[in-house]
Amino acid sequence: MAFESLSDKLQNIFKNLRKKGKLTEEDVKSALKEVKLALLEADVSFKVVKSFMKDVQDRAVGADVMNGLNPGQMVIKIVSDELTSLMGSEMVDLKLNPQTSMTVIMMMGLNGAGKTTTSAKLAAKLKSRGYRPLLAGLDIYRPAAVKQLQVNAEKIGIDVYWDDKHEFLPPDIAKNAVGYAQQNGYNIVILDTAGRLQIDKDMMDELHEIKEKVTVDDSILVVDAMTGQDAVNVASAFEEKVGIDGVILTKLDGDTRGGVALSIRATVGKPILYVGMGEKLDDLQQFYPDRMASRILG
Ligand code: GDP
Repeated sequence: MAFESLSDKLQNIFKNLRKKGKLTEEDVKSALKEVKLALLEADVSFKVVKSFMKDVQDRAVGADVMNGLNPGQMVIKIVSDELTSLMGSEMVDLKLNPQTSMTVIMMMGLNGAGKTTTSAKLAAKLKSRGYRPLLAGLDIYRPAAVKQLQVNAEKIGIDVYWDDKHEFLPPDIAKNAVGYAQQNGYNIVILDTAGRLQIDKDMMDELHEIKEKVTVDDSILVVDAMTGQDAVNVASAFEEKVGIDGVILTKLDGDTRGGVALSIRATVGKPILYVGMGEKLDDLQQFYPDRMASRILG
């Protein structure tokens, strides 16, 4: 389970604080040092940990923790609040236009991140909210990718638009897909773009061109939580080169240390909208920073 080790460590630190009742400044300092180590071991990026610890320390001093009735509890509350704020505090959703008009969502990410699966998961979620989504397969380089999209789409009763005659490049397929959607009563188009094995200029150029051909309402980056700090670097590169509105973090059901969830917002400045919690097409959950912080703190 994600965050298992971080969660265990923080719970232990807090248990010891609670047990003590009366705390010295030294107790608080050494507890916070342990919190810092636990975050670093969970693969939270160094810069994020540094600024997190500064915020916690500032508040702990400002709140006059040591003179309070229950200093241990106060330290725990401060860490919990700051963990939540690290992840963005408020839940953020897709920017969806009214159902009477069109919304275009562009899904981006490296191969294997979970983009195609997540596109289908998102379509299913939006369908259950009353929208009429159309999936568009833009990965012309891997025929298996469109096939996989079609197989998933069939399971959830969603239509797929693709260039069956192999006539167009992805930016034009995107444009045609939106035109098709407008003519056929769909109100959301989810573009499943082509990834690459790593950050690649052709991929970034292609994503740019898609954005020039169609009005994209949400540029969503799909990243794999299991890839740790790499995921944060990938997100920074996409933000810089294409621009992203939000992130979907996949494979949070796996044995990830969880650092990506805690680092991405502070590093890239963009929120996590949803998290992938399994391979099944209903394993996609809205991301609530406060609930995630409570989960970590147990
Ligand atoms: P793409 O290359 O980015 O389109 O990635 P795919 O959608 O093909 O996904 C790659 C693999 O990750 C597949 O085996 C998916 O079933 C799996 N996958 C995607 N999302 C999740 C998730 O949230 N949890 C788990 N456990 N597996 C996932």
